[in-house]
Amino acid sequence: LLQMFQPLSFLGVMYRQIKESITDVERMFGLLGRPREIEDKPDARALDVVAGEVRFDHVNFAYNADRPILRDVSFAIPAGNTVAAVGASGAGKSTLARLLFRFYDIQQGSITIDGQDIRHVTQDSLRAAIGVVPQDTVLFNDSIYYNIAYGRPEASREEVIEAARAAHILAFIESLPQGWDTVVGERGLKLSGGEKQRVAIARTLLKNPAILILDEATSALDTQTEKAIQGELLEIARSRTSLIIAHRLSTVVEADEILVMEGGRIVERGRHPDLLVKNGVYAHMWALQQQAEDETA
Ligand code: ATP
Repeated sequence: LLQMFQPLSFLGVMYRQIKESITDVERMFGLLGRPREIEDKPDARALDVVAGEVRFDHVNFAYNADRPILRDVSFAIPAGNTVAAVGASGAGKSTLARLLFRFYDIQQGSITIDGQDIRHVTQDSLRAAIGVVPQDTVLFNDSIYYNIAYGRPEASREEVIEAARAAHILAFIESLPQGWDTVVGERGLKLSGGEKQRVAIARTLLKNPAILILDEATSALDTQTEKAIQGELLEIARSRTSLIIAHRLSTVVEADEILVMEGGRIVERGRHPDLLVKNGVYAHMWALQQQAEDETA
């Protein structure tokens, strides 16, 4: 009998391993085909996060050699600041985030965190320093507790509860008949878009990373939920170095710097009011969006 069950328990272990390797991050980066494996250098050291300053210096990048995607991209996010990338679909915004996470290596230039080239540090230490709130949060088919604690599995129960409270999802969890043990995800309770984002926010608060990537949702949440969540996201962005991939310009109004991207280049940059005065690409995008909002109002 034991022999009969051994293969099954092996499958169980494998299932768990596979499940744990499918993170939000991978979903965020739309990895249908996984990128080529990036390997740690033999002498790679752990990233030493001192302040959390991010710097892209003359970065050129192509997924495939025959089609350049990023061209001579340079910007810095001083520790604690927020930089937002905006631009049409395909402009290269999400690529910036994938590169910061080192899902791919760049062909020219450098990306550094506190002066350390990310190619020279271990991927584990790099990814531990960066939190991601993706567009569409993947929920594991497990308890809501597991789903939030995943942000830092060694966190205490009190810390998990605190993160849920700060993400404004605690009352909702406590209102469920099975509370924290409620199974969510594919075969469990389906959460709304807003609830899923709050789970992602709670996970990230628990992880407490020095650097944050926010990939703003394109999917429509109702306006009230969206406003509330935007406020919560900006709140977590405030205390750390943040890169926002913005799809709606209203999110970026307060950014320390806005990068306007077109065809893989930064074509304009600055703060919201300065870009409006410039009356260029950004001002045009802003006018179009205001018009669209007025029409739907
Ligand atoms: P969106 O607002 O639609 O999310 P984006 O500005 O974030 O767009 P990216 O996802 O950065 O755009 O993509 C930039 C370009 O790179 C696009 O032309 C896209 O087709 C291409 N691209 C993205 N991922 C890959 C990949 N894995 N392999 C090859 N090309 C890719």
